[in-house]
Amino acid sequence: ATQEAINSTLKAEEPISPPIEIDHTQLLINGQFVDSASGKTFPTFDPRTGDVIAHVAEGDTEDVNGAVDAARKAFEQGPWPRMTAYERCRIILRCADLLEKHIEDVAALETWDNGKPYEQALNIELPMVIRTFRYYAGWADKIHGLTIPADGQFHVQTLHEPYGVTGLIIPWNFPLLLYSWKVAPSLACGNTIVLKTAEQTPLSALYVSKLFHEAGLPPGVLNVVSGYGATAGAALSSHMDVDKLSFTGSTVTGKIILGLAAKSNLKPVTLELGGKSPFIVCEDADVDKAVELAHNALFFNQGQCCVAGSRTFVHERVYDEFVEKAKARALKRIVGDPFKKGVEQGPQIDDAQFNKILKYIKSGIESGATLESGGVRHGSKGYYVQPTVFSDVQDDMLIAKDEIFGPVQSISKYKNLDEVIQRANATPFGLAAGVFTQNIDTANTLTRALKAGTVWVNCYDVFDATIPFGGFKMSGQGREKGIYGLTSFLQVKAVVTPLKNPAWL
Ligand code: NAD
Repeated sequence: ATQEAINSTLKAEEPISPPIEIDHTQLLINGQFVDSASGKTFPTFDPRTGDVIAHVAEGDTEDVNGAVDAARKAFEQGPWPRMTAYERCRIILRCADLLEKHIEDVAALETWDNGKPYEQALNIELPMVIRTFRYYAGWADKIHGLTIPADGQFHVQTLHEPYGVTGLIIPWNFPLLLYSWKVAPSLACGNTIVLKTAEQTPLSALYVSKLFHEAGLPPGVLNVVSGYGATAGAALSSHMDVDKLSFTGSTVTGKIILGLAAKSNLKPVTLELGGKSPFIVCEDADVDKAVELAHNALFFNQGQCCVAGSRTFVHERVYDEFVEKAKARALKRIVGDPFKKGVEQGPQIDDAQFNKILKYIKSGIESGATLESGGVRHGSKGYYVQPTVFSDVQDDMLIAKDEIFGPVQSISKYKNLDEVIQRANATPFGLAAGVFTQNIDTANTLTRALKAGTVWVNCYDVFDATIPFGGFKMSGQGREKGIYGLTSFLQVKAVVTPLKNPAWL
């Protein structure tokens, strides 16, 4: 397995894009790039080698305070919430245009800092980012409330207003995509922003936020504080002058953030958290297609997806064939330098994740699952892990319960629908689920029985800007994207006026 996987990397071509100049490493506060108040910096690493790419200004409480003050001033006194919604729309559209113009540089930055394949960043993620900006730009001048008759005695209207200062905290696995899911709707609604990026991937957000200012965003509307979670992130979450928080990351951190919001000013919080999503292959499945879809559902983005189809349930009738083919597909996966053309899988984000994944693989072997492929590091430097497939996975094994966040597919056998529904739902998470069947009745049964915020039928990882996304159970609260993602950045005000002449209503 090892040899085959290594051989397959040789098929990849030479780098298609070299790393670019790093222009922005400071904090972005009130439209200016500035050093942190402490003068401290932190390193961000190239996951291909573990080498330092750049030293980035390290924000902490004082910087967060400055950024929140700038965002408050921009909201209360600046032009942003007062300009016409059409003007706000045009600024967001201009930013999308600028991003499109610089798409290759931004994709290179994303790959360099994160390790994801350049072709994936360039052809899949950044077009989705641009689309998300344009989608929410289009909403800016279509936000309006209702008129309510209120028994004919009162004229009641609802105003859908921005919250004010929004605090946005994002993880490292899709740095710009998750930036767009929060920044675009928050701006479209007329809020101002303090964004805390993940310490592993601070670079692309600084670059794109600079583009926003070139596009005409007034100073103070979008502030970016790079730094660590326990310091800058906690300062933002507990700030008394932040009106709304939106967080994507682990369930553990989500609980901390909810606690900080509760202990400070009870700011509302949207949470997008972890998952352990089932991918169910039914007995009628076309096995080749099911194998390919289940493979991508798990291995996409090095397995570092909150929605990763990390519990592959396969009906006993097709199980043996599925396992054989899933193994063969994993052995063919092209692992290597993410800048090379044709590479499907780059390195994991950092040594902590790399070691965590190898520990889970060890636990899978020790608990009696059958290792079909992979199981060890790939190459001799950087944070590469071979595409790993386990079969005979039992529900009580750690690899079937915990979010591994790596290229580890766990395949289990099931006998009937009732059983698989019960097992698929037997998790504290409820982010996503995949169903693979040609039978409409089976599809209808499963889509209604599965407790998950998204159920993909005969597809997976479909993330159009229009489709709401979020978790059941401990996978989160609230929704992003689509109109649901818009309303999470709006609050409703009811305005009530007595009617002098109710008879005329
Ligand atoms: P993480 O929770 O450790 O970090 C996410 C962000 O929170 C980072 O910016 C981090 O600095 C910050 N943070 C950490 N501790 C904090 C604290 N005490 N106060 C405030 N902020 C703090 O998660 P991670 O390891 O970076 O990301 C992986 C996790 O994110 C996985 O569990 C994954 O499932 C989840 N995720 C969820 C979604 C979704 O939409 N549901 C999307 C992507 C990732």
